[in-house]
Amino acid sequence: MNRKNIAAGNWKMNTTIDEGIALASRISEFKRDLNNLVILAVPFIHLTTLQKKIKSRSKVLLAAQNCHHKNSGAYTGEISPTQLASMKIPYVIIGHSERREHNNETNDILKLKVRAALDAGLKIIFCCGEPLEIRRASKHILHVKNQLVESLFELSPSEMKNIVIAYEPIWAIGTGETASPQQAQEMHAAIRQMILSKYNKRTSDNISILYGGSVKASNAKEIFGQPDVDGGLVGGASLNADEFIQIINGFE
Ligand code: PEP
Repeated sequence: MNRKNIAAGNWKMNTTIDEGIALASRISEFKRDLNNLVILAVPFIHLTTLQKKIKSRSKVLLAAQNCHHKNSGAYTGEISPTQLASMKIPYVIIGHSERREHNNETNDILKLKVRAALDAGLKIIFCCGEPLEIRRASKHILHVKNQLVESLFELSPSEMKNIVIAYEPIWAIGTGETASPQQAQEMHAAIRQMILSKYNKRTSDNISILYGGSVKASNAKEIFGQPDVDGGLVGGASLNADEFIQIINGFE
């Protein structure tokens, strides 16, 4: 088993370029265990600048927060997977719940985005997770399974090596409410089992599954300590360098 621990920050639509440079510089200067990966998902317009600022030996990698499912064409305001790849951006987030909600991104569209991003050579942080009413009806595992089956499970085992899954219960995103370590572990173990059933033990053992939803310095260690939780996708708390560095330290 050689899956990576990953702390990924999702800056969403936050930071001016000067704020972004200051934040990324502090995080990339921090010395860390080289087995742990740190990914910063920053606004598109910051990608080129931050790529030059981040020290290559720091093991901090950049991600885009979205991409289009076509590589070029009349799609004003969009960014394509090949454009990201041409800038040597290694990761892209696909399927964040805010995009599913505000941009009507369905499982079918996300499947096209996954295909296009992989074909362009990008690695993907694929987000899944249930709304509160689905959790209350105890249908959360089925809901997440549908998201994975409909958007991801046509990939080959070797393509799955380029996927990181982020389980983000919608009721815990930006709300200050966190899934308990037990709730996170239950879902992460279920996701790993789904991957085992669809693929094989090597694929399910080696895929990193991140938890997202109000991760903070005060709760990261306990959540990351669960056997099937391989780190976090962190929104609000990733905008504060000290807090995010403490979250990265949650792996120790
Ligand atoms: C997110 O944006 O993916 C997220 C989990 O946000 P927050 O940590 O603020 O809940």
